[in-house]
Amino acid sequence: MNTAKKPDEEGQLTPGGEGRAAALFRLVLSFMAVVMLTFVVVEGWRTWRDYRQAFSNAQNMVTNLARATSQHAEDAIRQVDAITAALAERLEGDGFARIDRQRLHALLSQQMAIMPQLHGLFVYGPDGRWIVTDRSATPANANNADREYFIYHRTHTDRRVHIGAVVRSRATGDLIIPISRRLDNPDGSFAGVLLGTIKVDWFVRYYGDFKIDELGALVLAKRDGTILVRRPFVDQVVGRSLADSEVFRNHLPYADEGLVETIAVVDGTARLYAYRALSSYPLVVEAGLSRESIIAPWRRDVLKSVAVLLLLLAGLAAFGWIVLRQLRERIAIERALHQAHQTLKSLALTDSLTGLGNRRRLDAVFEAELKRARRQGYPVALVMLDLDYFKRYNDRYGHPAGDQCLKRFAEVLQTALKRPADLAVRYGGEEFTLLLPATDVPGAELVVDEIMQALRRQAIVHDGSPVGWVSASAGIAVAEPAQGECSAERLMAAADAALYEAKRRGRDGYTVAAAFSADTQ
Ligand code: GH3
Ligand code: MG
Ligand code: MG
Repeated sequence: MNTAKKPDEEGQLTPGGEGRAAALFRLVLSFMAVVMLTFVVVEGWRTWRDYRQAFSNAQNMVTNLARATSQHAEDAIRQVDAITAALAERLEGDGFARIDRQRLHALLSQQMAIMPQLHGLFVYGPDGRWIVTDRSATPANANNADREYFIYHRTHTDRRVHIGAVVRSRATGDLIIPISRRLDNPDGSFAGVLLGTIKVDWFVRYYGDFKIDELGALVLAKRDGTILVRRPFVDQVVGRSLADSEVFRNHLPYADEGLVETIAVVDGTARLYAYRALSSYPLVVEAGLSRESIIAPWRRDVLKSVAVLLLLLAGLAAFGWIVLRQLRERIAIERALHQAHQTLKSLALTDSLTGLGNRRRLDAVFEAELKRARRQGYPVALVMLDLDYFKRYNDRYGHPAGDQCLKRFAEVLQTALKRPADLAVRYGGEEFTLLLPATDVPGAELVVDEIMQALRRQAIVHDGSPVGWVSASAGIAVAEPAQGECSAERLMAAADAALYEAKRRGRDGYTVAAAFSADTQ
């Protein structure tokens, strides 16, 4: 019935100290976790930011490169455009019949000297023969009627400059880009071609001056994708088509300039490209930096920070491990101390001969039990038991036998108590006390009867007793704390008086204290 904890012991089984240490342990553990997580998150964020920064820098760089190279190509070609336009005007105005070859040759030579990109300036007749060049000697049977640009102008009447694919010069063997213009007779018929050739090498050297790594690329191509110049330069690349590349297929048709990350069709390198179409001529430049060269410095940085971070985390983990180990040790010590304390405490409350509680044990719970009974409104029974003629028993059978007898009586008491809240203590000598919460007089009488019967069954021979075996007398007092003031002392005194009365009546029996029985019966 009354299964509530006894306030003396169980209430302190989890003492504050140990609980605090465990809480501290958890706190340190979560603190470590938070610190480590913070490190990782901050480092991760920094790495991501650096990665973005590396790409943004690379975007600026390729954009600038594309601007510079397109401007360079535009300028180089515009100059040839201008000189051929002036020459065409002069030739067509003067009439081809009246060409002063000497003066024209001198003019062409002079222009050559001014423009370093030029490889040559040529005037061809309608049949492809060389009429005048910047060179002092003209090959006898030289004829350029088979060249792509010559055929183009013969079959097209438009007057704009035509930029051809790269060819190898018949005069010098150099790779050249032909910039040409059609010459008309006054009646509009085909009169020949004006040609200015630009050295591919001029571009190669210019592109070579840029400080980009060997995986970086600079490309000058015709709008249809045909490569004119490229860095890194190899002869075989010239003339190859970029028409199927990402830039030419998917970007150039929609925007004249832009940024594209793609894999180069020429060498399979992943690059970030800026491309730009020239404003005045059907040409396109591309400037590309390899993904590798963009990422490599970033990656080196990441590896370094990861190494430092790992070291830091390892140090932190080691530190945490030491702290946690010490904490755990402290918790273990505290637990051991607590157990030792509990043991000592229970030893102090235990009677060493019988294993029952002792008088201190009764004192420790008595008042609390009365208060609880008052709150919950149930009676409390106190029973005092005393072995009869025990002095004689000792005298006859010896003190050790007396001790054995006390032990057996303690076992009888222990067996008779059924409820967890019932308490039996050895009050002193051969006197025992039972504290029975929530027990009224009939209940206590039942318990005492059972004890006496059980003791009789033990049949411990005692020649000094009139009954022939060891018997006990008992005094019962029952209090109703809810009905009125009642102290532990008064209850004890009442039980003691009842016991005395039982002895007086002839022993081997019990009496009930009148003062307390009145309430309950
Ligand atoms: P009654 O109670 O019937 O009036 O007679 P009694 O002989 O029991 O009287 P009393 O209470 O005066 O005697 C108590 C005796 O119990 C005294 C002592 O010899 C014995 N005794 C007390 N403590 C111990 C103990 O720890 N061991 C043993 N063997 N005997 C004890
Ligand atoms: Mg006694
Ligand atoms: Mg006695």
